[in-house]
Order: sequence, then structure tokens, then C-alpha cells
Amino acid sequence: MRHIAIIGSGPAGYYSAEAAQKKFGEDVRVDIIDRLPVPFGLIRFGVAPDHQSIKAVSGRYEKVALSENVRFVGNVTVGKDVSIDELQGLYDAVVLATGAPDDRKLDIPGGDLPGVYGSAAFVGWYNGHPDFADLEPPLDGKHVAIIGNGNVALDVARILSKTRAEFGGSDIVSHALDVLETSATEEITILGRRGPHQIAMTPKELGELAHLDRATPRVDKLDLPEVGEDALLEPGMRKSVTHLREFAAIPEAYRADKQISINFDFFAAPVRVEGDGKVERIVVERTKLDEQLRSVGTGETYAIPCSMVISCIGYQTPSIEGVPYEHGRGRFANVEGRILPGLYCVGWARRGPSGTIGTNRPDGYTIIDAVAEDIGEGDGKTGRPGLDALLEKRGVQVVKFSDWKKIEEAEIARARDGAPREKFVRIEDMIAAGG
Ligand code: NAP
Repeated sequence: MRHIAIIGSGPAGYYSAEAAQKKFGEDVRVDIIDRLPVPFGLIRFGVAPDHQSIKAVSGRYEKVALSENVRFVGNVTVGKDVSIDELQGLYDAVVLATGAPDDRKLDIPGGDLPGVYGSAAFVGWYNGHPDFADLEPPLDGKHVAIIGNGNVALDVARILSKTRAEFGGSDIVSHALDVLETSATEEITILGRRGPHQIAMTPKELGELAHLDRATPRVDKLDLPEVGEDALLEPGMRKSVTHLREFAAIPEAYRADKQISINFDFFAAPVRVEGDGKVERIVVERTKLDEQLRSVGTGETYAIPCSMVISCIGYQTPSIEGVPYEHGRGRFANVEGRILPGLYCVGWARRGPSGTIGTNRPDGYTIIDAVAEDIGEGDGKTGRPGLDALLEKRGVQVVKFSDWKKIEEAEIARARDGAPREKFVRIEDMIAAGG
């Protein structure tokens, strides 16, 4: 029998478990350990609440979770309740599928003023992550600045713009919906340190900005390269840039009815955030591109008045004591997923925060191939009973998948009209509902 512990119950964790089932059939026992009492990681806490069709992939993970040889072990923190060393003593392979839940740091003066948030915190707040339920972002100002030209910047801009009615059918948590409804926002400026041809935004997500009830996107024609240059882009990027061109052509008359303008400010690198005890403005420097398409400052700076700054500049994997880490890239040091003998990483923890949810599927299958090659038939480790004995001795209250199903049932039962669920945002409430 082979015993595998997977740390993290997001997409990378469940695809790895699925791969292990396929590879080893009945000859494997997989424990998926998560620090939270609820599964699915990024699907629950990262994917935007108004993108329910993407969240539906959790149905596939549930099939894996409900089989005999895979087990969800929730409410167990690796590094506190059990160490990596202990897990390595109990399992043939330990696979870190911990994702990249921490923000890449916005390293500019004033970056820690009240009113500056990383996207992990802001997204976590509207998605009901227990760590960020008490965030209380100030939405009483007229102008919000968003830093970054990726899909998370788009998610944040869209969520800040939607009306209550547009959130129908979403599972945005009520504490966020209620505050967003009273928001005074009139302008959202998305800052890109490079140009329209260097965005990391995908066409579907960009296109959504053109169909908002009370907001409309604004692009300055002068920022766009010659149309002919779009031919050099790969097809997805070309579509994205076509959306930007459409935004630049929106007539002023159309804007008159809209309360919120979503401004794309390209070639604008953040220099510092200023304010008296809280955010009042962000100072940016005009940039240009060098031959390698990197942004270079021109020395010209200007200030954008704003009361909140949300930095959407990418994520990083939290390090774990004793596990080799690649600081520059914010992920575990690994060679094709192998960290140390018996210790592996997969998904964003392996390659950094890039790609779609589906990218984690081949990643999961590849890591299980490596595990299979390394562990053979297994080494007589104890696996599950050993972990259970250890956690019981330490008084850790484990949340099982069947407990999660009760939590889910309770969340569905207390949903707003038209919403799929109302998430619990406190760990104690989750545990109480699962008990
Ligand atoms: P991302 O795609 O890596 O974009 C990060 C952006 O931040 C880039 O535009 C980058 O600009 C900019 N940036 C980085 N450091 C900066 C700095 N110091 N100052 C100013 N700008 C800076 O990251 P993300 O938006 O967090 O997305 C993470 C992953 O999740 C991506 O693969 C994304 O596609 C995926 N995602 C997908 C969806 C969806 O499909 N609906 C939704 C959300 C997220 P440079 O290019 O100049 O470095």
C-alpha cells in the first residue's frame, strides 16, 4: 500500500489525488490536509463570486473526495498541528499543493498605509475567507486605484463596479455585498507599468467590462500601438487588445449614464502612496518600454487622488520552515516538482502563480508520475492511522468531507434569494455547522 499526503485542497491538490487514484487504483491511500475546515482553496476563495461556471469544477473534485481511498482532513495546519517531518515519517510521499495565497509585496513608500490592500486580502474579503472577513475596506471615497494588468485586477475592478442586481446568482458574501452597494466609487484607475500589448488579461474577462450596468471602461487611444502591430500578437492577446480598442472607441454620450469610469492608465508605474494616516493619493511615473519590453521610468510623475489602493501584482507561496524555497520566484525550490526525497510540490507552489485552473490538471498527473517512479510499492509506512493518532493526542478537531457536506448544506439553506450559498466566514461557525 502506498500512502500519500497532499497539503492543500485546491485544484492542484485534487487533481493530484485524482491522478493518484488513476495511477494506483486500490493500492493507494491519499489524505488531503487543509488548514481550513472547508475544501477547494482557490475555487472557493480565489475565483470571483460572479464566475459560478468556473467554480462548478469543484463537482469533479467532489467525485474524487467521495471515493474510499481519498480523504479530506480539514482544520489541520501543517507546521502547527503536525510538522512536515512527522508527515514524511508517516507517508511515502508528501505533496505540497499549498497554492500561492500571499501577495507579492508592493515595495514602495507608503505601501503599508491604511487603505492599501493586496489582492489576496481584498479578494479574500469579498469571497468570505476567514482571514479577511474583518477587512472593512473604505468604499466611501470616489476613486480607487488598482495596480497591475492581470486578470485579478479585472476581477477586482468588476466586483467594485457591479450593482446588487448584477450579483444575482453569485455567492459574494453578504458583508461585502452590503458595503459595495453603498460604495461612493466614481472612478477606478487600473495602472499598468507597461502597455496594451503587454497586458496579462484574457479576452473573456476584459470583454465583461463592456457589459456592466453602472460602469464603463475608458482607454486612451494615444496609448494604443498602430493597429497593424496587433498582427504580431498571438490570437488570445490579439482578442484582448481588440477589446481595448473597442473601449477606446466608446462614445462620450454613452458614458453620461454611467456612474463609474474604469480607466486604463498604461505606461504608469507606482512610485509611492501618500496621505495623512491613510491613502489620499498614489504617485505614478510615466514609463516607456526598452528593447526587451521592460518598463523604464521617464522621470515624469503625477498624482492620482484616491482613497484606496489595491495591489494586484501577483501572488507567492508561503514558505515552510525547513523546506527549500526560491525567494525571487515566490515558490518552493524544486526540480520538476521534486523538492527533497519524499517531498514534492505541485501547481502554483511548484511553478508560481500562472495559468488557468485547468493547467493544474496535467501538473497533478506529472507529479504523481514522479511519485510513482520514486516510491515503488510503498515502504510499509502507517499513513492514516498514524496521523489520526497524532492529531487525537494533540486534541486537533479534524473536519471530514462528510462534515463539509453538512457545512455546505447549511450554507445553501441560509443563502440569499437567487444565490447558491451564503458562506460562513468564521472558522468556529464552519465547525459548528459541520458538527
Ligand atoms: P499576473 O497575471 O501575473 O499579473 C500581474 C500584473 O501585475 C502584471 O500586469 C504585472 O506587470 C504587474 N506587476 C507585477 N509587479 C508589479 C509592480 N511592482 N508594479 C506594477 N505592476 C506590477 O497575476 P494575477 O492577475 O494575480 O493572476 C494570477 C493568475 O491567475 C494568472 O495566471 C491569471 O490569469 C489567473 N487568473 C485567472 C482568472 C480567470 O481566468 N478568470 C481570474 C483571476 C486570475 P508586468 O507584466 O509588467 O510584470
